[in-house]
Amino acid sequence: PAHVSAMREARVPSVTPMKRRDSKGVNISNFDPNCIIYNSNTDTTYLRGKLLGKGGFAKCYEMLDLSSNKIYAGKIIHKHRISKPHQRQKIMREVELQRYLKHRNVVEFHSFFEDDENVYIVLENCSRKSLVYMLKHRKTLTEPEVRHFMGQLVEGTKYIHNNNIIHRDLKLGNMLLNDDMDVKIADFGLATRVEYRGEKKMTVCGTPNYIAPEVLQKKGHSYEADIWALGCVMYALLVGHPPFETATLKETYIRITENRFSIPDWVSPQARNLITKCLTHEPELRPSLDNILIDEFFSSGPHPTRLSTSCCTEAPRYH
Ligand code: ADP
Repeated sequence: PAHVSAMREARVPSVTPMKRRDSKGVNISNFDPNCIIYNSNTDTTYLRGKLLGKGGFAKCYEMLDLSSNKIYAGKIIHKHRISKPHQRQKIMREVELQRYLKHRNVVEFHSFFEDDENVYIVLENCSRKSLVYMLKHRKTLTEPEVRHFMGQLVEGTKYIHNNNIIHRDLKLGNMLLNDDMDVKIADFGLATRVEYRGEKKMTVCGTPNYIAPEVLQKKGHSYEADIWALGCVMYALLVGHPPFETATLKETYIRITENRFSIPDWVSPQARNLITKCLTHEPELRPSLDNILIDEFFSSGPHPTRLSTSCCTEAPRYH
């Protein structure tokens, strides 16, 4: 079978060291032939590749599916880390919420399985890291780039909401990029399902980064908390830091509650206006996602349908 021959190839790196590529252009030498992961439910064998990132629970690695030769991102969670029932429940909830979502701007779920040591969540691979990484290089993004990312993020969030899910942790680190520079919403670890129309959620376990005032004040929250977070994301992309960032969490929470933020002069009036609308204190007065998509900001300058990967590290030039 194909996977056996691929493994055999991978065991002889000395023939052509380092850059051994198979017919689909997968660089097999990036994958350790000794790190074999087996999904007994589907009889699929994977080779573990490079580390993509670390989260609270998981380490995320490239995983090469030897039967299809496709590369996935595998969240690998050591069973020691989820020994308590509520920890496992959290993972199961994340899987259940993400499992059936399929949209260009949402990280696609592929499979979930476990062996004696670990639990594995196999996801679509986003090889260009996250918007945090991009902003670290760039400091701030241009308005056309922000139109590109915000447009896609609103589409992804709209799809999530249409599936009765509130993400509750939309932040730059959960916005991943693929090779086409499409942005994908990741990490459903704090997400929740809305069970009936008008349901208000009271609790959030964990600390969402861009926490909305109604969540902070435990007034009951819903989809509008994600709109607030999108406003924070847009601000951070244009200004280089989040709108309510201070030296202490306490001061940040005071500013969120009092709605105290300022937007630098060099941000265009249209961008300023949209950020301000999303950061409205009263959740019911924030714009809907459909209203955001037709906002003047999106038509007030270039709105590229595609970005070059060079944007990860260098500002593009728009004429
Ligand atoms: P945790 O649930 O433990 O917090 P995360 O979902 O935040 O784990 O994932 C940890 C890190 O792994 C992320 O910050 C990101 O760098 C990387 N990562 C997660 N999912 C993917 C993916 N689908 N493609 C590429 N990298 C990913």
